[in-house]
Amino acid sequence: MINDDFLSEYSDILLNVERPSRYIGEEFGSYNKDFDSSKAKFLFAFPDKYEIAISNFGHKIIYDLINRQPDLLCDRLYAPDKDFLELLIKNKKNLYSLELKRKPNEFDVVGFALQYEMCYTTVLKLLEMSDIPVFSKDRSNIHPIILAGGPSVSNPVPMSPFIDIFVIGDGEDVDIEVLRKVVELKHLDRFEKIKELSKIEGVYSPLFPKKTNKRIAQLNFNNHPVMSPVPHFSSVHDRAVVELRRGCARMCRFCQASHINLPVRERKKDDVVELVKKYVKNTGYDEYSLLSLSSNDHEKIEDILKELNCYYKGSGINVSLPSQRADKFSLELANLVAGEKKASITIAPEAGSSHMRDVINKNLSEEQIINATVSCIKNGWNKIKYYFVIGLPFETFEDLKEIVHLIEKVNLRCRHDGLKYPQITCSISVFVPKPHTPFQWARQNTIEEIENKIKFLKDLKQKVKNVKFNFHNPKMSQLEAFFSRGDKETSSLIYEMYKNGAYLESWDENLNLDLYNNVALKLNIDIEKKATREYYKDDILPWDDISYGVDKVWLYSEYEKAKNAVSTVPCEIKCNDCGVCRNLKTRKVLDKL
Ligand code: SF4
Repeated sequence: MINDDFLSEYSDILLNVERPSRYIGEEFGSYNKDFDSSKAKFLFAFPDKYEIAISNFGHKIIYDLINRQPDLLCDRLYAPDKDFLELLIKNKKNLYSLELKRKPNEFDVVGFALQYEMCYTTVLKLLEMSDIPVFSKDRSNIHPIILAGGPSVSNPVPMSPFIDIFVIGDGEDVDIEVLRKVVELKHLDRFEKIKELSKIEGVYSPLFPKKTNKRIAQLNFNNHPVMSPVPHFSSVHDRAVVELRRGCARMCRFCQASHINLPVRERKKDDVVELVKKYVKNTGYDEYSLLSLSSNDHEKIEDILKELNCYYKGSGINVSLPSQRADKFSLELANLVAGEKKASITIAPEAGSSHMRDVINKNLSEEQIINATVSCIKNGWNKIKYYFVIGLPFETFEDLKEIVHLIEKVNLRCRHDGLKYPQITCSISVFVPKPHTPFQWARQNTIEEIENKIKFLKDLKQKVKNVKFNFHNPKMSQLEAFFSRGDKETSSLIYEMYKNGAYLESWDENLNLDLYNNVALKLNIDIEKKATREYYKDDILPWDDISYGVDKVWLYSEYEKAKNAVSTVPCEIKCNDCGVCRNLKTRKVLDKL
């Protein structure tokens, strides 16, 4: 709550930073529960700027579910931007929780969301600014338990010296169980407490390492938020977000999200419709989004959109949907989403050649991509966005050529059909090998190899005028590969980078590559050598203690199928016995009739 004490202490700082409303809380829809009467207190810490954090769906779920428990409390902490941080340091002030303005070390549990590897140094800075020792071993009974969840905990090794417990898999039930256990174990010292917490299903502690299976939540109407804090100013996604389905049965071989979120669980059509109506009404947003790794795979997506379009007709409330799959492309669906706007449409071929799409298991033909694109152009879209990945395992320059050839073939079809050429933007990222995927064994290309590929594509593109290429920074991708498959040595680089001022490094302007090179040299760490390392079948991998249910043998068989460009059918059509349902005693949930 904004009280006079807080204002007198922080007003000078707030008046001298950009967007002070990031730091005052009091958003419409925030819980602001009573601190002293709550039995256990959780501080959700998101190591990125307010605009990114407040839009994150996972954090909205946990925040809402904990606060719905009458005796538990969840407050929030987001990473301050550099101007605010510098003034805090200059004025010798600590961070505070967003809603209750409490010191972070007054909470029982501080839970970090590790959404991407480039947030690691920010986590350490947030701990320091919260008066909490950055190393787990230096904490005592007076300090909170430091927890971490999110996709990057799929390899907990790099952050193990700094985190007490990791939550593997879905956090919905586990975080509440951890809080309840903390209440029960109040009398125990810290070491014993962590030992007991590590026995909870889905919890891994580096102090008590053991094989740990992920936790799976069943999705239902009651464990989805219908309200969340509405920021005072424009954030990354200003809309009500309803999760349509979790997991993706397509299993593209480079995609970590697909493999760690299995099995597919769809929300029922009626639940989705009702959740949207409630969320939009409660927050006042004029846009809603249906979240999923592949939205048009939902069994009843068209029925859902038709019903909601009819309900919101004339109200000015619109829908946004992540990219459509070209093989299931539906013009009706595209029209239902776009309404009158038809600004741009996104298609993700991921690779230019059919051979590479078989290697990565995209199951998408050239014909399907061209048909979907031309169909959009015929129906009024003139801006097309394609996603591609380069540097994939087994890729050749012939495969790369096909990226440009694909665009030429689209143009050719447009000319043939008497259509105007569209404006095409290709967003091109660099392959990062990720744990728990069939490509976890594969090497990443060196920077030199990627730069040659970028040059090759830029040269080829010269003759095609209606396309723009946006390349992801290959050096950033190399760091992501280094961290995502990191071993114990990685932790020392994270620590030294933090000590040297690294902060908010997922923002290009904050990433100091020279500093990385110097620090790595000092520590005798070869970042490129580790990022480009190929693992072999029987190698012990740093993340082997963690299981998302998929058999390692099955992942390797997929890697071998990739070498021969053999694809695997989506598990919605046929179960491939990847191991998830058998190992975790679960099953896929589809919204069939
Ligand atoms: S075991 Fe079969 S149904 Fe279950 S996630 Fe794996 S492939 Fe899909």
